[in-house]
Amino acid sequence: MNPTDPGVPAEAGATPAHGADGGLEADPESLIPGQAVRVAELDDMGEIALPPERAVSAPTLSLLYRRRARQIAGASDLAALQALHVAVLGRERGEITRLLSMLPELPLEERKRLGRAFNLAKRWLGELHDVRRARLESEGETRHMLDVTLPGRRPWTGHAHVLTQVRDELLDLFHGLGFSVYESPEVEWEAYNFGRLNFAPDHPARDAHDTYFIAPEVVLRTHTSPGWVRAMEERQPPLRLVFPGRVFRAEQVDASHMDQFHQMDGLFVARDVSMADLKSTLNTFARSIVGRDVRTRLIPIYFPFVEPGCQLDVACPRCDGQGTLAGGARCPVCKGSGWSELLGAGMVHPNVFRAVGYDPEEVTGFAFGIGLERTAMARFRIPEVRLFLENDVRFLHQF
Ligand SMILES: [Zn+2]
Repeated sequence: MNPTDPGVPAEAGATPAHGADGGLEADPESLIPGQAVRVAELDDMGEIALPPERAVSAPTLSLLYRRRARQIAGASDLAALQALHVAVLGRERGEITRLLSMLPELPLEERKRLGRAFNLAKRWLGELHDVRRARLESEGETRHMLDVTLPGRRPWTGHAHVLTQVRDELLDLFHGLGFSVYESPEVEWEAYNFGRLNFAPDHPARDAHDTYFIAPEVVLRTHTSPGWVRAMEERQPPLRLVFPGRVFRAEQVDASHMDQFHQMDGLFVARDVSMADLKSTLNTFARSIVGRDVRTRLIPIYFPFVEPGCQLDVACPRCDGQGTLAGGARCPVCKGSGWSELLGAGMVHPNVFRAVGYDPEEVTGFAFGIGLERTAMARFRIPEVRLFLENDVRFLHQF
């Protein structure tokens, strides 16, 4: 074994199934038909023994040709084929090149016979190499060919948060009812958040235990209702506005409480606005959110900034307003009442109109406050309010 000939281990050919690079050997007939004729032609020139000191891979030219032809045919890739080419046909150290270089030392007749035989072997192995290379190259192209009929890989894209979707749906709904959007600051004067909305000075909501104070007289708004005050101070009736936004309460966070959540207040102020207008607007909202045939009711409830105040209930979607489930068990969603609270509302309190300079003898109005989390939880049966702000994409991707 010639140590300068790394492509050809000494055992090359000893294991017939493997070529110089360890790759499989194959029948060269598959590359160029008529191999038997070529081998016979070499054999016809008499046995050509190859001198061991030339470090060639076989004892005779016929054997060398057959072995190298099978290795070229079996080369598994272009790199293996290139290594074979260097070992066999390389201009510097290829074994055929080395054999040709011994010709000048030979007698004339022997030089002619061997010269012709070596050159035939060189040409035929070169032809086999060229055909094998062309096959490997075209196979590689096929393997890496771009299949334009395959579906593309979509890049990961996000989408609107479930609360944003609910907000946009409600904005669409109220836009259709003639409402425009009004936005007001999240950091708000205490007077706008409470006083001008008719909260008594000692109302418990004004306590620091329930409200985040930024500074004396400055709070994180606890509802979006301060927007009414700002809008009415800026504009004259009629007003038909919705107030989407984030609000804050100093709450212990648990499955049904967050210290921040989202609301959308609505306000309609004009002459002769009545409870009937409020009821029809709220029923339109409930049917849009819950379903066309949903049953609703208004029950009285106290809020400082409305008089009278009311709560809109819809028939419990779980028990269909029955209060009990099929087996007779109490419905866990409505706790047996058959109703589920959707929002608070009412007629705007005269004191709120006075605080912004409107004359309560001239104008009337209704207002309502929708909780976006509560609406989304009812719509999608989401059990925990905390999920909305945890930003777990496994949750968010469901909507
Ligand atoms: Zn129920």
